[in-house]
Amino acid sequence: MATLRFNALKETYKRKPVHIEESTRRSEIFGLNVFNQQAMRQYLTKSCLEGINNATKKGTKIDRQLAEHISAGMKDWAISKGATHYTHWFQPLTGSTAEKHDAFFETLGDSGESIEKFSGSQLVQQEPDASSLPNGGIRNTFEARGYTAWDPTSPAFVWGTTLCIPTIFVSYTGEALDYKTPLLRSLQALDKSATDVAKYFDRKVSKVSATLGWEQEYFLVDKALAETRPDIILSGRTLLGHAPAKGQQMDDHYFGSIPSRILNYMKDLERECMALGIPVKTRHNEVAPNQFELAPIFEEANLAVDHNSLLMDVMDKVANRHHFKVLLHEKPFKDVNGSGKHNNWSMSTDTGVNLLSPSKKPMKNLQFLTFFINTIKAVYEYEELIRATIASASNDHRLGANEAPPAIISVFIGSQLTKVLDELEKVTDGKLSPEEKTELKLNVVGKIPEILLDNTDRNRTSPFAFTGNKFELRAVGSLANCANPMTMLNAIVAKQLKDFKVEVDALVKDKKMKKDDAIFNVLREYIKQSKAIRFEGDGYGEAWEIEAEKRGLSNNKTTPEALKAKLSQKSIDLFTELKIMNEIEIKARYDIEIEDYAKHIQIEGRILGDIARNHVIPTAIRYQNILIDNVKGIKEIFGESFESKAKEQLKIIEAISGHIEHINAGIDHMIDARKKANVLEDETEKAFAYCNDIKPFFEDIRYHCDKLEMLVDDEMWPLTKYREMLFTR
Ligand code: ADP
Ligand code: MG
Repeated sequence: MATLRFNALKETYKRKPVHIEESTRRSEIFGLNVFNQQAMRQYLTKSCLEGINNATKKGTKIDRQLAEHISAGMKDWAISKGATHYTHWFQPLTGSTAEKHDAFFETLGDSGESIEKFSGSQLVQQEPDASSLPNGGIRNTFEARGYTAWDPTSPAFVWGTTLCIPTIFVSYTGEALDYKTPLLRSLQALDKSATDVAKYFDRKVSKVSATLGWEQEYFLVDKALAETRPDIILSGRTLLGHAPAKGQQMDDHYFGSIPSRILNYMKDLERECMALGIPVKTRHNEVAPNQFELAPIFEEANLAVDHNSLLMDVMDKVANRHHFKVLLHEKPFKDVNGSGKHNNWSMSTDTGVNLLSPSKKPMKNLQFLTFFINTIKAVYEYEELIRATIASASNDHRLGANEAPPAIISVFIGSQLTKVLDELEKVTDGKLSPEEKTELKLNVVGKIPEILLDNTDRNRTSPFAFTGNKFELRAVGSLANCANPMTMLNAIVAKQLKDFKVEVDALVKDKKMKKDDAIFNVLREYIKQSKAIRFEGDGYGEAWEIEAEKRGLSNNKTTPEALKAKLSQKSIDLFTELKIMNEIEIKARYDIEIEDYAKHIQIEGRILGDIARNHVIPTAIRYQNILIDNVKGIKEIFGESFESKAKEQLKIIEAISGHIEHINAGIDHMIDARKKANVLEDETEKAFAYCNDIKPFFEDIRYHCDKLEMLVDDEMWPLTKYREMLFTR
């Protein structure tokens, strides 16, 4: 029966925007629920504050005694914010966040009295019973439990009535079981390599941090409507549904005015974000109907990653209040633009310089070019690993599916910088003459405009684009935890800068070159070596696929294919050399991801089979029976000549039978293929089976279901339609 759908629609039409009181200025609520410098000054002694700041800036350890004092201050602050519980907040390899709440409450012996307590050891370390979280076999191997440990570089915050303490999650033997641990290690590696290179240009630099500004895309669907769709509830996306008559072809949604129900949701969300210290700044409509984007001001990468993970939770909870469901899936609707999460990345020094920002001074521009060219070289060397890092079953719908960035990784830098690199490629081999150096400083390096933010020179089809003062990795999926791509990017650039320094130092020492001669020489070689990765054309076209293959670039369209690069010797060498992950950790992550892929497709297959068989086919048969009765009636009235009078009905009856037959056959074959895949012991083989032998049935089953949607009486159709989900606000 279609009652569920129509009841939901009725409910939706009655909705009013949820009232939002905005009496305080945004700047006044910013960070109100964060244990930030201001709160710490109020609740901690000077030595505690110093201890935390040293840990954040210099990585020094916080001893037990200090932790005792900090926890006491933190507890008092949290209680003043209404907190009753605390939790170690961490990011296990499930993709979502995890927490286990404990009360600030302890009884005093058998006196019957109780106090509110939160000790230093409770702050620093916990042993959550998290045995069901994925560990890729690490904990089985080591027979050890996992524990969480405080990350003082990301401030604690109060969310609802809980004090959340950002932590890492590791096994007893120290193997990372989360996203944050490798991220922190990669930030250290980048700091070391980038600081060493930055010192060529400024001796005063003593720390380099990665910066991240993410842009989160998402869909909003009315909650009542979303709940009528088993596919959305269970898989986050629609597995069937005919395209609406009007889609995004009119381009009227992008930057259009925001409907008031949605605007109020955004305001509410932004207010929550502000209090949690997430510096959200821009909101706008996206390309597709009911698709939107939220972006913050960039922050230090670890903090930005935490903020994005927190945001995804907050979005969900706030949406509930506004009777919406947030869809973070990369492709919730077929033939409608998907969602990504652009990761804007750069490096910045403790002297306040963005290392990827051009400047007026030629010497500073040589510094810019050094970091710029090294990043391009790193992407060239590790393009296949980049693709692997952003791979997931849901992101496969975007990458390589002729929308958003392709599965081929390339770098876009724009025409101005292309000219500069072309000039630098001509630099003399060996020592440079004074004339050549002057010429370079005046006319090449010195001519890079300070501001490159020219919007006309932007290539939206590039997966990795330089956008004036940062690189933008656009291939990240909207559901992904940013820690993965950030860890990888920090790692490849750290490795590249480390090698760069070795090469420059060698030229200075062995060839007696001046430092900038040596830098020019090494950069020239890098420009030549990494040319294949630079592409300024249309990344969506077939021509690029052919060209990329000639250039030797990888084009791994599916997750199982892409993930292989994670186990390559090159990838293992990279992470082990920089001490970001050991071989056990790398393999464990691969195992989790490859298993996750097969499970994902398996679940989707089951849902599709269920909906097609238990919702679509019975509805089609019921409608067909109405037609059959109708034809019988016509025959009764008109006798022999009924056929010409019931021509259309007969056609539809036949068509319905045809589609049902195809759907049933498709499901049967899909189930057979699943049975074969499920007995495979090797997880990689299983993932490939799900990818190549099972997933292809989805399209065919869907095709026939969608045809039935167009044939069957609208009043009988049980599944909320695309037009209703995409255009009802
Ligand atoms: P757009 O790319 O849409 O024109 P912006 O240039 O303002 O918009 O930036 C987009 C995102 O890039 C924002 O989230 C912003 O905070 C981030 N961003 C800007 N500068 C940096 C930087 N140096 N490092 C990291 N992210 C940055
Ligand atoms: Mg962008």
